[in-house]
Amino acid sequence: MTALLEVEGLRVRLPTPTGFATVVDGVDYHVEQAQVFGVAGESGSGKTMSMLALLGLLPPGSVVEGRAAFGGKDLLRLRGRDLRAVSGRDIGMVFQDPMTSLHPMLSVGRQLTEHVRRHLGLGRRAAVERAEELLVQVRIPDPTSALHAYPHQFSGGMRQRIAIAIALACGPRLLIADEPTTALDVTVQAGILRLLDGLRREHDLSVILITHDLAVMSSIADRVSIFYAGRVVESGSRASVLPHPRHPYTRALLDALPHPEAARDTPLVAIKGTPPSPQQIPVGCPYHPRCPYAIEVCTTDDPPLAPVNGRRLACHVDPFDE
Ligand code: SF4
Repeated sequence: MTALLEVEGLRVRLPTPTGFATVVDGVDYHVEQAQVFGVAGESGSGKTMSMLALLGLLPPGSVVEGRAAFGGKDLLRLRGRDLRAVSGRDIGMVFQDPMTSLHPMLSVGRQLTEHVRRHLGLGRRAAVERAEELLVQVRIPDPTSALHAYPHQFSGGMRQRIAIAIALACGPRLLIADEPTTALDVTVQAGILRLLDGLRREHDLSVILITHDLAVMSSIADRVSIFYAGRVVESGSRASVLPHPRHPYTRALLDALPHPEAARDTPLVAIKGTPPSPQQIPVGCPYHPRCPYAIEVCTTDDPPLAPVNGRRLACHVDPFDE
């Protein structure tokens, strides 16, 4: 497999009124051609920040370190025109809530055609043809009429399909989908996931799927990384990590999933405590205040992410070693 994107030692520090907060702390991962790479973790684990850093979309004053090799370039070194040539063209991004990524006052056709005209330099007629083609690709019924409609005239699922069409407009090689199904109900969610999976197969597209929901990730991801407190704590193929999680945090995320077949009075399992704020990351393993398996060394030494039987794991104890 060829890696389309290779990220090494990514570190992101955001300015705050009391100094810098480290929200991503030395993350490594790679995304292979035509594969879905799933990134999971609770809110505030650094998932989204690690992706926004690649596209130069962090708040002003942020400090980014590391390397992100994509198509022979280091994304973290690109600025201005060079960055815009990649972001939105070679890399498309879909956000969680399409109502915030779509402009409510502009027709769907205008939003699609402006994008392709700016990035691909198409003339008016060619841009309209491309826009219609994109709406067909994302399975919008009656694409000709849809071009004249406004975002509020569509359901949440259809709006998300339109946001995906815009992200695909310039034929990107990589699509970053940040919680693309969170605002949708379960059946619509399944339709969006099938669409992403189909686009990956038909267009040789690589996808980074960011989610807090391991059930969503397990339905289409090829490889997964679990983020906690700005670090990767476990990563590997979906087939090895999700059926047999070895990090206590991965296991806790899976245990917290509701099981439809469970008896109605079965209580949901919650993860004890809350994720640490980036300004107050505990010394040692950042998960130790919440971890039922913590031992003395967990309170003093941060475990490195090390290879263990075909996956990478950051845990001193490895309590689920089989
Ligand atoms: Fe738990 Fe210790 Fe492993 Fe951290 S290193 S996950 S605290 S057992």
